[in-house]
Amino acid sequence: MFNQDDKSIYPIIAGPCAVESYDQLYTIAKSVKESGATFLRGGAYKPRTKPNSFQGHGEIALQWLHKVSQELKIPTVSELMDPRDIDLFMKYVDVIQIGSRNMQNYSLLKEVGKYKKPVILKRGASATYDEFLWAAEYIRNEGNENIVLCERGIRTFSNATNRVRNTLDISAVPMMKQLTDYPIIVDPSHACGRADFVPALTHAAVAVGADGVMIEVHNNPEEALSDGYQSLTLDQFHNLCRTLHLHR
Ligand code: PEP
Ligand code: MN
Repeated sequence: MFNQDDKSIYPIIAGPCAVESYDQLYTIAKSVKESGATFLRGGAYKPRTKPNSFQGHGEIALQWLHKVSQELKIPTVSELMDPRDIDLFMKYVDVIQIGSRNMQNYSLLKEVGKYKKPVILKRGASATYDEFLWAAEYIRNEGNENIVLCERGIRTFSNATNRVRNTLDISAVPMMKQLTDYPIIVDPSHACGRADFVPALTHAAVAVGADGVMIEVHNNPEEALSDGYQSLTLDQFHNLCRTLHLHR
């Protein structure tokens, strides 16, 4: 998925938590690409903690993603939750994301393992390093070796006092580099759950050697249908990209 030989292109995956409309996605995609994003993210099927929260627009959102991707020439990342949707993802998406909640959904892992499409496997919020790697093995054992690991914060006690959603396990980066050859990227947005911490954690991820980052960006975070409080504005993302090269 990532061309690890070409260090001049640092993989930055950016975009909204959820694809809300064609126009929303186009606006965000155009801006993040100009700022330096190399992949566009956007969820069509959202794994929401509360059943009444916005669940994603489904197939039509994948079609919007595909259209925007073709128009702006930027590859896409989107989360697959149900093996029954795999054909849609083969058709419309460049990189399949397996979300943290499904890291140990073994039938889903086996399914994506049967295809050659790159897979971003997000670490479960309570998964150990071994469990994370065994989940990757489920995919690889079916024949798909195109796997990128993603540290996205783990569950600790810290949200009790400071409204942090998760805790970024920055050690996961050097640890995965010692244990595997898979690229390891960091998602600072879900790791902390607050937009004001995202730039600092992104810098930390790059400094510690992450092979890429995934960042939630929205053109109007206050009105976002999901994860607005942790989404950077277009300007904030632009400013972050301008300073990222300092660590490399
Ligand atoms: C997401 O990327 O929007 C998402 C739901 O991530 P995670 O699975 O890490 O919670
Ligand atoms: Mn999200």
